Amino acid sequence: MLFEKILHLERQWDGFNKKSFNADELLAFISSQNIIALPDKSVYSAVLFKYKNIPFILYSPYLPEPLLVLSLGHELGHYSLGHLDWLTLEQSYLKFLSTCGFEKDAGIIGFLFAIPTPKLLKLELEHRLFPEELFRELNYFSDLAEDELWQICERRIRIYKAYKRFLKQLTKT
Ligand SMILES: [Zn+2]
Repeated sequence: MLFEKILHLERQWDGFNKKSFNADELLAFISSQNIIALPDKSVYSAVLFKYKNIPFILYSPYLPEPLLVLSLGHELGHYSLGHLDWLTLEQSYLKFLSTCGFEKDAGIIGFLFAIPTPKLLKLELEHRLFPEELFRELNYFSDLAEDELWQICERRIRIYKAYKRFLKQLTKT
């Protein structure tokens, strides 16, 4: 189950879902996982594949930093969830906003790298858990178009609520 795996990754990956990764930090983390990440101008966002048993991520050097973090995190999501065994290439732009199946699951991992749960928890404690408020908090995302940022805020809050429901269920059982 996805959220069980996420709890495992939080223990395994230093800083994951605890702090906001910027692109350099995430690229350093990717290389610490023995994945080779390379900029490639022909890629729309990011692509994960294996060549001679070595995992590679190619990423667009043109993406604004927050989208790069979400896209790299999305590919790390595919990698950590074992999708690489049957996944080939993906090229579509903003794939991390996908709402179904394994794409959704990979996207959630990316969101937790970019906007960690403590940020949302803080908003909730201040009774400010609304997209408008998160929108205002994410000033380092300011190089994005407003509608992109808006979608990101709404999605991130939905993920936070699902994560909380999972934790609640966990303490009940
Ligand atoms: Zn994907």
